[in-house]
Amino acid sequence: MPELPEVETTLQGLIPHLIGKRIDGMIVRQRQLRWLIPYDIENKLNQAYILKMHRRGKYLLIDVESGTLIIHLGMSGSLRLLSHSSPLTKHDHVDIIFATMTLRYTDPRRFGAILWTDDASDYSLLKNLGIEPLENIFTGHYLFSRTQHRHVPIKSFIMDSKIVVGIGNIYAAEALFLAGIHPLIPASRLTEDQCYRLVKAIKQILRRAIKKGGTTLKDFMNSDGKPGYFSQQLKVYGRAGLSCVQCGFAVLQAIKLAQRNTVFCPACQLL
Ligand SMILES: [Zn+2]
Repeated sequence: MPELPEVETTLQGLIPHLIGKRIDGMIVRQRQLRWLIPYDIENKLNQAYILKMHRRGKYLLIDVESGTLIIHLGMSGSLRLLSHSSPLTKHDHVDIIFATMTLRYTDPRRFGAILWTDDASDYSLLKNLGIEPLENIFTGHYLFSRTQHRHVPIKSFIMDSKIVVGIGNIYAAEALFLAGIHPLIPASRLTEDQCYRLVKAIKQILRRAIKKGGTTLKDFMNSDGKPGYFSQQLKVYGRAGLSCVQCGFAVLQAIKLAQRNTVFCPACQLL
């Protein structure tokens, strides 16, 4: 599933090709994604120039003069820049056409979203989002202050987008492992020192993943290549039953937490 680093990589890959370009048209083949693609979106974007592209959480925001196109990749979405003649495949739901290329949205499971707002600063999906994990305001002190009187497991807490955005299941598990914190510890029981370690681990893991993503940027121009998600060196996610890479002796355990698979080391992450 695309997580924050994949979205950031997608954004950085697209920016040099799209800023200042004019949209010559839009083809919507399947309107029913997670939400219906608005019927007037083709009109809103036709002949519009792309002024700015940025990211908020896992939402990609593309600003034109009259408003903002919002794209979320959901569970299985991807964006690729292709030549006009690239053959269509089954799940290619939307094309945004430029003079010399097409930006194609592909999404087999259709949990993604393509939306429009006239005013991104007042848009319901964006307005209530928590702070960005890679910005300086996300500190150990911030996390510690927010964990007070919150008894949910720390893994659920850091995945709550009202607290901090864009930390999905994979990176939550990896960050907790790196910080040596058991995923089930109630948020309120973390010490300030543990909050500092956890914030440091989250930033480190996300930055490393974004850096790795840079090597796959060529895929954005590659018509037959897979979407630009990168294989990651994960230490706990997907490794249940294998021995821990840190202590070398404990066997990684899997539990279900909020319907999500959670893997941790019972020796390195004490409850
Ligand atoms: Zn271990």
